[in-house]
Amino acid sequence: MALSQSFEITVVGGGLGGLTAALSLRQQGLRVTVLEQAPQLGEVGAGIQTAPNASRILLGLGLRRQLEAIRTEPLDQVRRRWQDGSIIGLTPLGRHVKDAFNAPYWHYHRADLHRVILDACTDPAGPGPAVTIRTGSRVTALDRSDPRRPVAVTEDGTRYAADALIGADGVRSQVRDLMGAEDTLVFSGDMAFRALIPGELLRADPATRFLFDRFQSTIWYGPGRHLVHYLIRGGEYLNVVGCVPCTDEVAEQWTTTASAGQLVDAYDGWDDRVSAMLAKAKDDVTCFALYHRRPDPGWVDGRVALLGDACHAMLPYQAQGASQAMEDAAVLAEELGAVTAGGIEDALQRYVHRRAKHAAMVQQASLRNRTFYRYPDGSEQRARDAALAQSFDGESDVSYDWLWSGTPLDGADGESFAYRHHR
Ligand SMILES: Cc1cc2nc3c(=O)[nH]c(=O)nc-3n(C[C@H](O)[C@H](O)[C@H](O)COP(=O)(O)OP(=O)(O)OC[C@H]3O[C@@H](n4cnc5c(N)ncnc54)[C@H](O)[C@@H]3O)c2cc1C
Repeated sequence: MALSQSFEITVVGGGLGGLTAALSLRQQGLRVTVLEQAPQLGEVGAGIQTAPNASRILLGLGLRRQLEAIRTEPLDQVRRRWQDGSIIGLTPLGRHVKDAFNAPYWHYHRADLHRVILDACTDPAGPGPAVTIRTGSRVTALDRSDPRRPVAVTEDGTRYAADALIGADGVRSQVRDLMGAEDTLVFSGDMAFRALIPGELLRADPATRFLFDRFQSTIWYGPGRHLVHYLIRGGEYLNVVGCVPCTDEVAEQWTTTASAGQLVDAYDGWDDRVSAMLAKAKDDVTCFALYHRRPDPGWVDGRVALLGDACHAMLPYQAQGASQAMEDAAVLAEELGAVTAGGIEDALQRYVHRRAKHAAMVQQASLRNRTFYRYPDGSEQRARDAALAQSFDGESDVSYDWLWSGTPLDGADGESFAYRHHR
């Protein structure tokens, strides 16, 4: 229940985590300013999946109509074998997950999802005070001389004081460093190729037309590397994420671009459909080194707390990084929405208590998939494939049942959560 006394919160970072937090806090009646370093808000040109644990939160924020306009719904999650594309395991999605988890499994273009959440943050007619967004505002210092009013200081010296400050500034979080949290960054040894392949090219080729027979979320398991793809914008693009050992060049530069040829070469010897698919990428493939954070519950210090990749960056091997940030946002807003300014420190402690262990389990499960997806052909691979053929409730130590149920929220059973906030 939102209390009548409102207070102010600064959110540093306008990514999917920061904006979901800003919207959730707004709907609790809190006044939020988002400081984003980029000159314009937006997301990279790539896809994103939200499993039911994240979709439930977005629907709970009253976004059903807007999300239905941008989402693509896969009917199954399918695992294929690298050499011949044979199906190792299949989990039904579509109606099945809606019935089982009361929320859908959806795919989007990241820019579309980001825009929907941003619009809801700033919509003057939305519930709660509209969020103030300041772009071109890179936070470079914190002034905590008054611990009850942490101040974010931007590059140009502008000071933003508030009753609480949330660092949602991504894997290389500056707020994290400024608040003195431990350095937990780990280089995985992997890199990801990312590409959006035009659907019309894939439809036109008999070798790749199968992708449109039934919309699926697909992972190809192979020795030492794996490949993920799914359709977005109703089939306008195939979003491809290829995860392979990192080259020295990418390790050094963090991010660079590659050609379609380099992407094809990374899957040399795989099923012919893989090269037929990847060869249709344009020469604007991006690739970047994959870092994650060692689990660590040091997410809060007084009235400064972290959220999303800033505290639990994970390998994208459960497709859960942004989804976990959305769970953070929902819990944070529940806790802060239930107190007056005097209760902020305790509310932030409760937020971390409810979220840190859960997120750590997802971090570890994501790391575990790095091995699980990529066994060389042999006894471990055969045992994995045999087990997955029998039942498919997750790939690692955490079950989909646990993962997709998400962190318990007060009355957060999808629609009813939304109604509670919108009446
Ligand atoms: C290949 C790949 C595929 C993925 N697929 C999925 C998926 O399908 N589903 C899913 O849930 N997750 C997925 N993820 C993970 C997901 O992308 C991230 O976990 C998520 O975007 C993190 O959101 P965030 O808001 O915490 O951080 P970010 O998105 O990194 O946002 C941080 C923001 O803070 C800003 N910022 C940084 N420093 C400052 C500063 N000093 N001052 C002001 N602003 C600052 C940045 O400009 C940025 O806008 C994937 C990740 C990868 C790499």
